[in-house]
Amino acid sequence: SGQLPLPEDTRVITVVNQKGGVGKTTSVVNLAAAFAQAGAKVLVLDLDPQGNASTALGIEHHAEVPSTYEVLIEGAPLEDVVQQSPEHERLLCVPSTIHLAGADLELATMDRREYVLRDAVQDYLMEHDDIHYLFIDCPPSLGLLTINAFTAASEVLIPIQSEYYALEGVSQLLDTIGRIQQHLNPTLDLATVLLTMYDGRTILSKQVAEEVRGHFGDKTLETVIPRSVRVSEAPGFGQTVVTYDPNSPGALSYREAAKEIALRGAQK
Ligand code: ADP
Ligand code: MG
Repeated sequence: SGQLPLPEDTRVITVVNQKGGVGKTTSVVNLAAAFAQAGAKVLVLDLDPQGNASTALGIEHHAEVPSTYEVLIEGAPLEDVVQQSPEHERLLCVPSTIHLAGADLELATMDRREYVLRDAVQDYLMEHDDIHYLFIDCPPSLGLLTINAFTAASEVLIPIQSEYYALEGVSQLLDTIGRIQQHLNPTLDLATVLLTMYDGRTILSKQVAEEVRGHFGDKTLETVIPRSVRVSEAPGFGQTVVTYDPNSPGALSYREAAKEIALRGAQK
């Protein structure tokens, strides 16, 4: 597959939308795999107690596996909890476990509670500056876990499902990002909006796309991710669709989206 230009500094991309089921995890794992296939070294950090990203990347994450929980709450270095994904030699993952479900509350009483993840990520990247992309898969909320993801990141990617109420909740999300930029992470860049589960046969999908482009302008990728059963099947095989069925429409569009993200980053 084609190689992509590699960023000089690690791009830490938080994938966020407080709505569940909009394609956050699917986008994280498929973009990550697409970048790895295209020559980049990629780390996925699973910050959702559900652990769907860990599952999709074929990573063990039962309750005894050291995970993002140990990093956030017990101060374990990322180094000690990173696993290699069987998906690709250049694809790494920090799994999440069910323990993370209580982390929001535990973080609340900690020092520097908004910066715990950033401190861990910065320590890790100091020793591992060969990581080109670090993706953070957020839980469907705007609690302390997600705030930690915002402060750790250099940029934000918002997946938006091409469905009724697509923009519902977006203004709250943008308010939160604005407050993060004001108080916690002034260089955070809302860089990318990605339309997911797009059905080109429906007027609704086209209307949503128009509305999203009207709202976000050229932050919205040209590439849209089609609704495709292959995309939803792939996690059942512990694989991403870009590996499971590389010529399917979902795989092609995630590779195309990765290319756009790489090229846009290269222009900055
Ligand atoms: P989130 O992480 O935002 O909760 P997911 O990525 O888990 O969302 O996606 C929600 C559900 O939709 C999953 O079952 C997933 O397999 C499915 N899905 C995501 N993207 C697509 C797509 N392009 N086509 C078909 N199903 C999809
Ligand atoms: Mg998810």
